[in-house]
Amino acid sequence: MVVKDNRREFSENEKMILYNEVDGRCPICGGVLSHKKSGRIHKTFEIAHIYPANPRPEEQNLLKNEERLSEDVNSLKNVLAVCRICHRKFDTPRTIEEYRLWVRLKKKLLQDAEIKNTYSLFNIEAEITVILQKLNNQTLEEELVQLSYDSLKVDQKANDSLPYAIKRSIKRDVVDYFDYIRRLFIEIDKVTPYKFDTLAAQIKSFYCKCMQINSNQGYVYTAIVNWLDEKTNSYSKKACEIVVAYFIQDCEVLS
Ligand SMILES: [Zn+2]
Repeated sequence: MVVKDNRREFSENEKMILYNEVDGRCPICGGVLSHKKSGRIHKTFEIAHIYPANPRPEEQNLLKNEERLSEDVNSLKNVLAVCRICHRKFDTPRTIEEYRLWVRLKKKLLQDAEIKNTYSLFNIEAEITVILQKLNNQTLEEELVQLSYDSLKVDQKANDSLPYAIKRSIKRDVVDYFDYIRRLFIEIDKVTPYKFDTLAAQIKSFYCKCMQINSNQGYVYTAIVNWLDEKTNSYSKKACEIVVAYFIQDCEVLS
């Protein structure tokens, strides 16, 4: 009996997309997926099917109730660039635990790519960097007035999808810095009226985009922080977290 092979060849461009999706490192073991030899860089990865291209009857049975990332086993949604060793380990023997892990990982990679592809559409006024710089200044210490924990809004806004550690960090950032940032925005608005409203609208708008892709609050919070960090040339991620906490407290971010 001749068994039909469902696998297909992937084009160079598809391989490039898959390679970039994992930033050139095996997402399972972290190994680099390229090597340098004779002055040239060679890619060393395999394209692994998450749901098998040619499932054996026992694999079909094992995965029959599991989520599928695509009906088409050769869709880019159902494949992952990994190193050869992790590919072999994944395929033999197939287990539900590993399958679920790979599905979760791939979904996150797809969502991250989808969000990053929208970055160019969502800008932020340059004045936000003034706030980030002030937050990293030593002289800040004397200017901070702590907010009362009673006035925090994050508890009402948060649902179960916001991990405790993130919630706690948002609360601390609001208590420590809210009053200071509010005063900074008042000063900025004196120079350019509506600057704060513009910034708030920009952050709200990116927040809404994230919610379309994944409404998990932990995911959304991290996505906004990463976006703000990239938009401000990776100046300070911690300062971005503080600013995002401010907008959670003051505006309709996480609602
Ligand atoms: Zn690996």
